[in-house]
Amino acid sequence: MTPDRYAVIGNPIAQSKSPLIHQAFAQATCQVISYVPLLAPVGGFAVEVDRFRAAGGQGLNVTAPFKLDAFAYATRLLDRARLAGAVNAMKFEDGEAVADNFDGIGLLTDIQRNLGRPLAGKRVLLLGAGGAVRGAMLPFLQADPAALVVASRDAGKAQALAAEFGAYGAPLGIGYADLAGQAPFDLVANATSASLFGELPPVSPASFAPGCLAYDLAYGKGLTPFLRLAQQAGAGQVADGVGMLVEQAAEAFAWWRGVRPATAALIARLTVPLR
Ligand code: NDP
Repeated sequence: MTPDRYAVIGNPIAQSKSPLIHQAFAQATCQVISYVPLLAPVGGFAVEVDRFRAAGGQGLNVTAPFKLDAFAYATRLLDRARLAGAVNAMKFEDGEAVADNFDGIGLLTDIQRNLGRPLAGKRVLLLGAGGAVRGAMLPFLQADPAALVVASRDAGKAQALAAEFGAYGAPLGIGYADLAGQAPFDLVANATSASLFGELPPVSPASFAPGCLAYDLAYGKGLTPFLRLAQQAGAGQVADGVGMLVEQAAEAFAWWRGVRPATAALIARLTVPLR
């Protein structure tokens, strides 16, 4: 039997853990698929995807720098992708390129289910106003937090982002300096790219409520400057984004294959100790 074909497309792509994750899911659920990394040149997303589809490709994960290209390519955008303005998974069926964004729901699942921190009634702070935050806004608002605050180095950008999601709750967009006027938070999530460069986003220890969860969306970096600050500030739990990575993959797999893989063992296998 010819396996159904899937891939992750990005540039660079050799570092992606998606092939390992999806092959593990396929094995665990007895699905016959092939899943490969696909390198596309910057500016060459559509040509590469057309070629993949012509060869029988059925679904793609999309990673940097193509999440906006995928948004433009899609012929049908599901709500999360439309509101995020970015796509991280596509399904090709009936001549359509259907697109979704599972980054936010993957993050939420990791926080609520895996880490045991329901967001309902809690104060939540998201640092950064880039793609990952855009993807998180709708699922987070649907989790009914008491407050959802987005902090950016550019207060106007955070305000505009919050306003876009005003129909789904009352998120607040502010600059980092304005955090001084805010009560501490039960969850502080670092969705900036600062950890990728060993840097600390400009958040103060006062933003961390005693015992809070501090979550760095970056993964595989050990104890980042952000997570170290959180520990010193009294956070009760720190986590990185490896669970988010596996959970968003599980969402895509379930969407494509109609079967939901278990995630805990794979998260444990991919976890780099936080020290
Ligand atoms: P973007 O480039 O879209 O956004 C990153 C944001 O980081 C920018 O909007 C900028 O915010 C902020 N920023 C950059 N450098 C700094 C700095 N030195 N200090 C403070 N803020 C800074 O990236 P993404 O949203 O796609 O990714 C963000 C993070 O999430 C990355 O670490 C990425 O690896 C991770 N990620 C993890 C995933 C997972 O599955 N675990 C999935 C997707 C992303 P501003 O200018 O508004 O302040």
